[in-house]
Amino acid sequence: MAGLWDAALRGEAAVRRAALAAVDAALLEGVLMRTEAEPNASDVVSYAPFTLLPSAVPSALFRQAYAVQQDFNLLVDAISQDGEFLERALASTIKVDDFTARLFRIHLQVLEEGLAQSVFLGINRSDYMFDCGAPGAPALKQIEINTIAASFGGLASRTAAVHGRVLKELGMAEEASRLLPNNPSEGLASGIAKAWELYGSRSAVVMFLVEDVQRNIFDQRCVENELWNRNIRVIRKRFRDVFEKGSLDEARRLYMDGQEVAVVYYREGYVPKNYDQQNWEARLLLERSRAVKCPDIATQLAGTKKVQQELSRPGTLEKLLPGRTEAIARIRATFAGLYSLDMGEEGDKIAATAIANPDQFVLKPQREGGGNNLYGEELRQVLEKIKDSPERTSYILMDKIQPQPTRNYLLRAHSPLKASECISELGIFGVYVRQGKELVMNEAAGHLLRTKAVEHADGGVAAGVAVLDTPYLV
Ligand code: ADP
Ligand code: MG
Repeated sequence: MAGLWDAALRGEAAVRRAALAAVDAALLEGVLMRTEAEPNASDVVSYAPFTLLPSAVPSALFRQAYAVQQDFNLLVDAISQDGEFLERALASTIKVDDFTARLFRIHLQVLEEGLAQSVFLGINRSDYMFDCGAPGAPALKQIEINTIAASFGGLASRTAAVHGRVLKELGMAEEASRLLPNNPSEGLASGIAKAWELYGSRSAVVMFLVEDVQRNIFDQRCVENELWNRNIRVIRKRFRDVFEKGSLDEARRLYMDGQEVAVVYYREGYVPKNYDQQNWEARLLLERSRAVKCPDIATQLAGTKKVQQELSRPGTLEKLLPGRTEAIARIRATFAGLYSLDMGEEGDKIAATAIANPDQFVLKPQREGGGNNLYGEELRQVLEKIKDSPERTSYILMDKIQPQPTRNYLLRAHSPLKASECISELGIFGVYVRQGKELVMNEAAGHLLRTKAVEHADGGVAAGVAVLDTPYLV
């Protein structure tokens, strides 16, 4: 679909004018980010990076991604309740990966003590690319599902308006009117509000657990404001604050500065660098508490790359979702090839294949947040080095997805305006709430399109590689 906007982009002057209007529209609409220089102050802020133009997305694949989201919600929820499955799936990984092992120990510890809360809130984002690797129409292939701190739902709620303004500037009002409404902020907040309501104390607050460095605060504020609009109080705290001021009463109710906390919404805690010893203690305190955790630690583990790979084994989905034949078929259709590097013949074979054909695979450790995967020559070198050691089991292998690049302009503060060949990744937000055995909410809550220049194999928006985009259905 190269060339969707070619006619409109003829002429450098038009592009420059559109880019100026675009940046001002982003500031007006609130597509904002704090600066690298001052990540914890809002005196001077800038726009979050975004594409000048919306990107073409095949409408059939867009609909397919929405249609499978409730199935993925069910699946993540089922995994989180299946301690035996988690233990089996992660057995080899936790022997070599300290971070996953540490999370897993907390998971066992809270199960042993007995969970203090029977309400569960899941907010996830399932990410896809459009694979053109095989002949025929492009196919929707899942990159991963994020079950903790899935971000940019807030800013994505405001991006379509910016692209609408750009299209009008370029004389395409008709096309602007075709951009889809999108409001993940509202969807995420309605899940949090439902969990808060089921917790059952009108004076209790929602706690956003946030990082020390808070450049992406406006994305979170979008969700936060939706809660304030419903008269639900929100506090923002770091692990360190929880360590210093958090406590549990005899019923394991969580208190921060004397305020009872109904829901903990993690926007932190997904990578090793988020934790020192005190932060691990704070995490344990939160997990033990009666507050609804979004996500609880089992749900975080359900989102590991190793679990994703184990799900692709024949028969696994059938065990996790008994009787749900159609949901299973919808889920499985989105799976790319995923391979275990566990010790043994199966792992030896795929390691050898990947070393011989490194450009066809991605090597993934158990990490989140972008910039951790290995590709091409680097993949070959690392795999060559660890191929006979149990260290290899901290990784999984995945088929590399081959999207069709298209031309766009990536707008970033202080960067020159130039066209890039780009590829996009579509994320669908999922929200669900379970009370005991009963699912009381299960929804697809909006989408996020992120686009990056093809020369970057890896990386998200927060990692400084991808930028926000809006789908233009074709
Ligand atoms: P993270 O948890 O770091 O976000 P991802 O699995 O999402 O890990 O990978 C990060 C990025 O790497 C993705 O956003 C995508 O751009 C690229 N990527 C990941 N898996 C593949 C794949 N199988 N094929 C092509 N690109 C991939
Ligand atoms: Mg990702």
